[in-house]
Amino acid sequence: MTEPEKKKEVEPFLAFQRPFGLEQHVFNSINLGAAHALTVYKFWLDYEGGTPNTFWFELLYGYVGGLGITVGCHRYWTHRTFKANLPLQILLMICQTISLQLPIRKWCLDHRIHHKFTDTNKDPHNSKRGFWFSHIWWLVLPKHPELKKELETFEVPDLDNDPVVRFQSKWFWPLTLVFHIIVPILIMQYFWPEITLLQCLAADMRRYVISLHITYCVNSVAHMWGDKPYDENISAVESPIVSFLAIGEGWHNFHHTFPWDYKTSEFGWKFNVSTVFIDFMAWIGWAYDLKTVSPQIIQQRVARTGPPEAEEASTDSNSNIHEKNHSANEKHENDQVYQAVKEWIMESEENPVWGWNDERIPQDLRNATKILNVKTL
Ligand SMILES: [Zn+2]
Ligand SMILES: [Zn+2]
Repeated sequence: MTEPEKKKEVEPFLAFQRPFGLEQHVFNSINLGAAHALTVYKFWLDYEGGTPNTFWFELLYGYVGGLGITVGCHRYWTHRTFKANLPLQILLMICQTISLQLPIRKWCLDHRIHHKFTDTNKDPHNSKRGFWFSHIWWLVLPKHPELKKELETFEVPDLDNDPVVRFQSKWFWPLTLVFHIIVPILIMQYFWPEITLLQCLAADMRRYVISLHITYCVNSVAHMWGDKPYDENISAVESPIVSFLAIGEGWHNFHHTFPWDYKTSEFGWKFNVSTVFIDFMAWIGWAYDLKTVSPQIIQQRVARTGPPEAEEASTDSNSNIHEKNHSANEKHENDQVYQAVKEWIMESEENPVWGWNDERIPQDLRNATKILNVKTL
């Protein structure tokens, strides 16, 4: 009889500890409850008038934190869609800390499991359990036993050995206190000296709560209402409104189909500030080895898993992805890359890949992936 798989022990500071050893659902209920109450208080203050309008600062600071999630946690650390030099990694770590969406390691662990086990009991925010579960209840309800079991064996060795991730894990709560609470309060007190400490805290919590709900929409709205031009067998959809709000993370049908593409979309900068940011960082030399899927691979995938009627109605702006799907399907029957894509799709229907570092991406498909801004040194 074979021994059951056992997770390699990680150093204790890497395993996320909540204050007083509280369980996830207990800590989140208190934290989210208090943050929502303060948000309502700030809206009430604004409605009543007489307090400074800090909304534009909250929006700006919220989006700085948002880049830490979309570019940092999501596209860099979870999916490894590009590489970053140390200053950019540190910048993204600070931005991610601003957002208080758990330490990078824990966020990425949950997200890789989401991609690998989408819409099963192992998926932390399984959208089959309904809108509100995938939006927020997954954070305040006890974890499903199958997810708990998966967490006992799922490993993230690249993150365990990442110096910036390790540093943030070690100092997570002091860093959170500084960047999530003290810095924004000091900035507000500087620009609006008349504002009280409690009002500052309420404004900061409103910034936090709004940014949380925008992130949650990627797990709920972008798994429910929208088109599925790349793979109609999965729940993830293309949602322009979520992309607009979540700076590019709503092109979710594309993203679940090709999770190693740094744009998380076929359409470049369209509602995608995160891609603009990565391209800018690549331009100044801080980001490099940007992975992107070639139009040929997209076309082949659409031919196999896209909607069958798509090419007939391809008069809209997305028509390029649907063009000649069926003929492409036949034309590439002998193509080596096509064969690799075909096998990968069959395998990934059961067990999707989670990103560039997932060894199950076939070599032919890797070779066919475009790598931009390759570092020459
Ligand atoms: Zn993802
Ligand atoms: Zn998803």
